[in-house]
Amino acid sequence: PVVTRIAPSPTGDMHIGTARTALFSWLYARGRGGKFLLRIEDTDRARSTPEATQGILDGMEWLGLDYDGEAVSQFERADRHAEVAREMLAAGKAYKCFATQDEIESFREEARARKESTLYRSPWRDVAEADHPDLPYVIRVKAPREGATVVQDKVQGDVTFKNDQLDDMILLRSDGTPTYMLAVVVDDHDMGVTHVIRGDDHLANAARQMTIYEAMGWPLPVYAHIPLIFGPDGKKMSKRHGAVGVKEYQAMGYPAAGMRNYLARLGWSHGDDEFFTDAQAQEWFDLDGINKAPARFDTKKLENICGQHIAILADDEILSEIDGYLAASGGTALEPGQKTRLAAALPCLKGSAKTYPQLLEKARFALVSRPVDMDEKAQKQLVSVSNGILEELTPHLQNASWERDALEQAVGQVMEAMELGFGKVAGPLRSALAGRAATPSVLDMMLVLGREESLARIEDFRA
Ligand code: GLU
Repeated sequence: PVVTRIAPSPTGDMHIGTARTALFSWLYARGRGGKFLLRIEDTDRARSTPEATQGILDGMEWLGLDYDGEAVSQFERADRHAEVAREMLAAGKAYKCFATQDEIESFREEARARKESTLYRSPWRDVAEADHPDLPYVIRVKAPREGATVVQDKVQGDVTFKNDQLDDMILLRSDGTPTYMLAVVVDDHDMGVTHVIRGDDHLANAARQMTIYEAMGWPLPVYAHIPLIFGPDGKKMSKRHGAVGVKEYQAMGYPAAGMRNYLARLGWSHGDDEFFTDAQAQEWFDLDGINKAPARFDTKKLENICGQHIAILADDEILSEIDGYLAASGGTALEPGQKTRLAAALPCLKGSAKTYPQLLEKARFALVSRPVDMDEKAQKQLVSVSNGILEELTPHLQNASWERDALEQAVGQVMEAMELGFGKVAGPLRSALAGRAATPSVLDMMLVLGREESLARIEDFRA
């Protein structure tokens, strides 16, 4: 069975690249009836914060990337990591190194002076049963020095690292705490991870981590190191390019389904398919479809895909995502009455917005209450062409049953009576109903607002 994981370090806002790695791992596991796990790599106590951990949990929830079981804290597993270091020590796969910082520094200085490799070669590697009960020591792995280590990567192909470039990395520090390199391997092994999908900035780490797997006689996971996300200029995506935090995307009002679709397409492809559902993505996703070249983030594409998703999302889902968007962006939560009207307006709005703020702007007529405030354009519309139109309309609307055909007829009767085109009649009506000159159709608005509210708004603005 397939087991994947996402292993973010909680040291800042959850990055969009982390979200994509999580998504790939989730798709891979979910499409194969496997498991997808979350491990918080909080071993670096100085840089890890509870806020960042919360940000990761929130980001995963927003994106709908459900993981199996509880989130694992790497820090809480420190005893187990130390145990493995000691096992390696006992098996002769690791050794105690008593070198002091000063000694290591002067080794490096001399190596630099001689223009030789500064890779530290500890003299303690070959000292049998070195033990100095009173001296601090670190535990280092006995890395291979001959030959080469080949990372067989599903995305990068076979990548060869010469073993004379591998150092005897530290597994356990002198204070008994495990290093990141050790912790990752032990956790992935203990959690039964079969496929490690992560950024290609970890490719060289894979070669080093393999020495630990080999020393322990553990089976290697399948590796897939995916290219990082670049900005439009072909440089690694960073704040310079705009938003990089997952939270920022929620605050900009993108639907999670659109975000998943876009991120899945970012660096992975399935023929020419741009727009797809989660079920399709899970069925189609495979490591073979991951591109070797970095993908460039394209906000236009993201928005187009998001618009297509909003058009097909269930109304309930849109309403609850809008709550989340308003909370994330610091907007005012909708009142129950506004929600009811928004729900009524959704069918005529869904197809025309790429983000939730766009949708709310179009739904503005349904969210405001009387008297409707009017912008300049709407005001002009009302004053310049109004001459009696609203007065003429009122009785026709009052007599109409509140249905599309009847309302259309009422407007038609006024057009005929006053010898005016549709736009001339609809203009002031639109202004009165919405206070804006660009809105959904007047018929849609009247149907959403209902008889009483529509007539009251018209009454408010009758000349
Ligand atoms: N904690 C690492 C990171 O955030 C990920 C390590 C891994 O996926 O193996 O970059």
